[in-house]
This record gives sequence, C-alpha cells and structure tokens, in this order.
Amino acid sequence: MNLARHRTGTAAGHAVVLGAGIAGLCAARALSEVFDRVTLVERDTLAGDGAPRRGVPQGAHVHSLTVRGAAVLEEFFPGFVDRLAADGAAVVTALSEVEIVFFGSLLHKVPVGTVLQAGRPFLEDRLREAVRAVPRITVLDGREAIAPLATTGNDRVVGVRLARPGLPGSTEDVDADLVVDAMGRAGRGAAWLEALGYRKPAEQRLRVDVAYASRRYLVPPGAAGPDHALLVGATPARPRGLVLTRQENDLWVLSLYGFGRPDHPPTEPGEFLRFAAELASGPIWEALRRAEPVTDVAAFGYPHSLRRHYHRLRRLPDGLISTGDAICSLNPIYGAGMTVAALQAAALRECLADGTRDLPRRFYRSAAKALRLPWLFSTLADRSMPQVPGTRPAFAALLGKSFRATMRAAATDPEVAAAVWNAVSLTASPAALARPRVVAATLRNWPRGSER
Ligand SMILES: Cc1cc2nc3c(=O)[nH]c(=O)nc-3n(C[C@H](O)[C@H](O)[C@H](O)COP(=O)(O)OP(=O)(O)OC[C@H]3O[C@@H](n4cnc5c(N)ncnc54)[C@H](O)[C@@H]3O)c2cc1C
Repeated sequence: MNLARHRTGTAAGHAVVLGAGIAGLCAARALSEVFDRVTLVERDTLAGDGAPRRGVPQGAHVHSLTVRGAAVLEEFFPGFVDRLAADGAAVVTALSEVEIVFFGSLLHKVPVGTVLQAGRPFLEDRLREAVRAVPRITVLDGREAIAPLATTGNDRVVGVRLARPGLPGSTEDVDADLVVDAMGRAGRGAAWLEALGYRKPAEQRLRVDVAYASRRYLVPPGAAGPDHALLVGATPARPRGLVLTRQENDLWVLSLYGFGRPDHPPTEPGEFLRFAAELASGPIWEALRRAEPVTDVAAFGYPHSLRRHYHRLRRLPDGLISTGDAICSLNPIYGAGMTVAALQAAALRECLADGTRDLPRRFYRSAAKALRLPWLFSTLADRSMPQVPGTRPAFAALLGKSFRATMRAAATDPEVAAAVWNAVSLTASPAALARPRVVAATLRNWPRGSER
C-alpha cells in the first residue's frame, strides 16, 4: 500500500468516527491520512484495563484474528503484530500447532502461516494505543452519539450531537465534514437515514440462534502440550462447537457455542465443563481441566447474521457513512468480523485516495465487494445446519455432505487442508476449493448414507 498516494487525496477538515470498536479504530486510522483532524467518539469510558467493556460484551468470548485481518492491521500500523507479540500475545504456526476438527475430521497439520492469538480487550487496547499515537486523531470517550446534524435540506450531514451517557441535558454539537457510524450492529446509522428523509437500507437476515458461553483460565506454560488451540466445529448432527485457545500471558479461553436453544451452552460451571467434555479431548483439554478459572462464565446470544445493503440505496446524504458490524454482522463462529471491519477500513482508504466526492456511494460499493465472499462463505456454512431455518432440507443436506467430504479429504491431504485454512482465514479465495485436485479429493471422500 502506497501511503504517499493516499496523501494526495483532496479531503481536509474534520472527520468524526462514532464507536471505538475495531471498525471505528481502523476507520479513524484510514481517515487520518486525508483529514486534518479525526475525532473518535466512544460511549464507554475507556479504562484500557484488559477487561471486556459494556459496549463490547462479546469481548469476553474468543476473538480469533485471521491472518488477513492481522495483515491489514499491520499495513495500518507497521510493527503492530510484533508489538502485540512482545506484550505477550501468543504467536502460533497455523495449521501445524492447532487442532481443528471441522465436520468431524481433524485437519491435516500442515504449516501454512502465523497467527496471533489474544483476547479481544487485549487486542483492542493495543490498537487504541496505536490510534492514539497518530497525531491527528483525538479519542473522546464517555460520549454518546444521539443524533446527526444536517443542512436545511438534509442533503448533507454536517456534524453530530453528543451527550454524556445517562445525562440527557449534557448535549454538545460537534461540526464535521464527515461522520462515520461504527457503532456496531445495533448502531443508529440506518435509523438516522430514515430520520433525515431517506430510505433505510434493505436488510438481509439469516436466523441462526447461536449462543456462546466462555470462561478464561490460567494454564501453566507448557502444560497443554505442543498445540496452542483446539477448535471443534459444529456438525449438522451435533450442532455444538468449542474453541479453546491460548491467548496472551498464558491465559486461555474456552468458548462453547450451540445452534438452537436445546444446544445452547450452559453457564453453570459444572454443566459448562460437562458440555465441553462431550466435544474435547487430548492434552489441551486435560490441561484445562486442571487449570484455574480466572473469570466467571459469560454468556452471549447471537440471534441472526445481518447485512444492510447500503450500496443499493439510490439516494444518500453526503457526509455520512456506516462501517463494520453496522453494515455486516457475520455469525461469530467463523471468526471473521474483525477482519471484515479492517477490510472495510482498507476499502475506505482506497476510496479516500480519490477524494471525498460522492464518498458514501463509492465506499458502500467497495465495501460490498469486500463483504461478498465472507458473507457467502459463512451463510453457506450456516445453511448446512438443519437447525437454521429457511433452507430446503435437500439443499442443506447436500451442503452438509460436501463440507463433510472436503474436511475428510483435508484430514489426509495437505493441499486440501491448506485450501480450507486459507478460505477460513480469508487469505485466499475459496475458489481454491474448486481446483480440480481438491474437487477430486472431495468426491473420493463423499459420505454414503445420512449425516447421522
Ligand atoms: C460472541 C462473539 C464472538 C466473536 N468472535 C469473533 C472472532 O473470533 N473473530 C472476529 O474477527 N470477530 C469476532 N466477532 C465479531 C467482532 O466482535 C465484530 O465483528 C468486530 O469487533 C467489529 O465490530 P464493530 O467495531 O463494527 O462493532 P463493535 O465491536 O460492536 O463496536 C461498536 C462500538 O460502538 C460503541 N457505540 C455504540 N453506540 C454508540 C453511540 N451511540 N455513541 C458512541 N459510541 C457508541 C460501542 O460502545 C462500541 O465500542 C465476535 C462477535 C461475537 C458477538
């Protein structure tokens, strides 16, 4: 990425980013290359103490950063990955130091790259430090965005009204040349459009009814054996999954999930471990059973994946864009949300290189391209689960069989395993799974009989 090229963008003035999650932090960094000032507004008070915060309750659950996501963060903040590792994040060789069981098959352990494993608050705190070090960016926490400010005809957003959370009388108006909604999937950008007299974007939802339960443990160094993570994915016959990964400073997280109420993981500590014991085995699991928990069991409900089609809107006001989960929230079990948030910021950076004229439309088109494959991939995997309504049973069964066959092939064939890993970690196109050799291996492993 050529920074000098981005500096030729014609924008200047003040950009305000609402929400200091991963999407907001990355967007602020992209904007700092062309705006004189960037203000990052966050509703929470940012303690930076490594604990999950109120506005990001998912922070208590496993947050894998894909190889692609780490590469984009490294482009925005050169040296970031090394600094994280120096601070204690686990640096792990994928696929050879992780045990991944997808659709019932243990993927062949071929080395295909390096991944960084850390808790979401750890990662976010360090990303925020990197953003704070950018001279043009100011972080304003403890402020909630409550309304957009627009020109008389509402054709342009020119700022935002803020308030101290819980103190409605404490409003302050902030002028801006660009307002970025990075307020997460419950963000207000779509409702703001409607309030300004525009259509709301069409929404695509896929009901998955996934629930998570997670707990962190301290595992003595070396006690878990040579591997640094264990992932057991859900299958149509057993819609439950588990992720157990080493994170920073010998902390490990055990996250359990299930599709549909009967398979939601329990939060009572004994039942939580019994649920896990049905899925896990091996040295990592044995180490965890003996380990000391350092948190309570946290729960999180995820009702549906969500995509908002801003790129299809005919009319948009200037000066307002949405990004991150506010545009697309993927089923978290595929671990791609932070990566697509970073990819959208990279798309924003590209668009800003051509100035700010017609920015919302150009950005939404470009973001839609970045989102197409991750959305397709995660919703296809979801549709193979009979617990996910809305898919013809015959199609769901066909998808289930084809995933199962590919994973069986990936158990013995390093090329197939690498293609699966690269697709999941968004480092290469899933088209590699359609290579003749991979297809032939898949067909040789096609399951006979029903899934069960
Ligand atoms: C259980 C779970 C597990 C996940 N696991 C993974 C994983 O393994 N890997 C991965 O890549 N992704 C994972 N994700 C997804 C990931 O958390 C998000 O996709 C990613 O963080 C991008 O989110 P965001 O920044 O758009 O929104 P958020 O992270 O939701 O951040 C939004 C921010 O906006 C702030 N805010 C909200 N309203 C206002 C307001 N009115 N004014 C000011 N500020 C406001 C919030 O306080 C918050 O800080 C997981 C998600 C869940 C739910």
